[in-house]
Amino acid sequence: MKTYFVTGGAGFIGGNFILTLMRSGQAKVINYDKLTYAGNLDTLSSVEGNPNYFFEQGDICDKDRLIKLFESYAIDYVVHFAAESHVDRSIDSPGDFIRTNIVGTFELLEAAQRFVALKPIDRKNNFRFLHVSTDEVYGSLGETGLFTEETPYAPNSPYAASKASSDHLVRSYHKTFGLPVLTTNCSNNYGPYQFPEKLLPLMIHNALKGEILPVYGDGNQVRDWLFVEDHCKAILKVLEKGKTGQVYNIGGHNEKSNLEVVHSICQILDEMVPDSPHLPHKNLIRFVTDRPGHDRRYAINASKIQNQLGWIPQESFETGLRKTVRWYLDNTEWTDRVMSGAYRGERLGLEKS
Ligand code: NAD
Repeated sequence: MKTYFVTGGAGFIGGNFILTLMRSGQAKVINYDKLTYAGNLDTLSSVEGNPNYFFEQGDICDKDRLIKLFESYAIDYVVHFAAESHVDRSIDSPGDFIRTNIVGTFELLEAAQRFVALKPIDRKNNFRFLHVSTDEVYGSLGETGLFTEETPYAPNSPYAASKASSDHLVRSYHKTFGLPVLTTNCSNNYGPYQFPEKLLPLMIHNALKGEILPVYGDGNQVRDWLFVEDHCKAILKVLEKGKTGQVYNIGGHNEKSNLEVVHSICQILDEMVPDSPHLPHKNLIRFVTDRPGHDRRYAINASKIQNQLGWIPQESFETGLRKTVRWYLDNTEWTDRVMSGAYRGERLGLEKS
């Protein structure tokens, strides 16, 4: 049984990843998370009390703590999800993104490097540091073309720039110090347990409440959508079979414009909630001011991970979206606790006095 040190495991993808690992029954997991606004332990309530699951609250910038935990849990793999992840927030407060995504990744690499340096060669060779990154580092595509692992970096938002910087640090720790790293650059994820500031859960939540569905600009920005469980399986595949020092792009072969996504959600909701007072839900769509520097199109060429590691996504956008909408309909309490602040023991939405 391998021991996984998962950073950011209380977030959307990290939470889904830990649930996938715990379902396998073959993993010991340490979830290391600062519990920022995006960290929600409600997601992991089903594994609390499992003797192979441990939660440690902490910041990835705290190198000394990280080294102590790596030693005391005798970890095999670091899977690094922890990040500030919302592009809009990176426009309002880029400093948090620089600190966590760049400095935090640096401290985590330093801790991993110190940890493996003291290990015998066989332990060192089996250790893995997997850095979870994004396709946003490659910038924006025109009407055609796909991002490959060789596409030059051209990040456009402070979020993308901070992730690009962390990718370069990870690469350098392999080239310079021989740290066994792997990097994955993935397209937009959707699925259960996503914080309702992101497109899909926000639209589902608002539509159910009869609130407006705000679409940025003309809504024609294209993203390559991947169901989160497919992303988790890809990460496991890269950990098990990937070659250290390599980068793997992960995508869903599902290019959709934001407007198409919102229309699809509305259609599924019309069908799944036929007694809604807000039918047809598409009447709630409103076009609002675009995000500054909004990238037009992202699309991934995922042939490397397919050909070399045998990974392909299991869900089409249609099947994955239906599962996702169903999950939010069946788990309104999870979203309500986020929207009310109850997941953090606080209440949101009250005016400051
Ligand atoms: P998220 O915002 O839902 O979760 C981030 C988690 O990191 C939260 O639990 C938060 O508490 C934790 N965290 C933040 N700062 C921390 C710190 N300093 N120390 C420890 N923990 C901290 O993010 P997500 O959508 O699950 O994304 C996870 C990773 O995947 C990120 O690195 C992101 O860049 C990458 N990614 C996301 C997507 C996507 O579509 N969501 C796509 C590709 C790549």
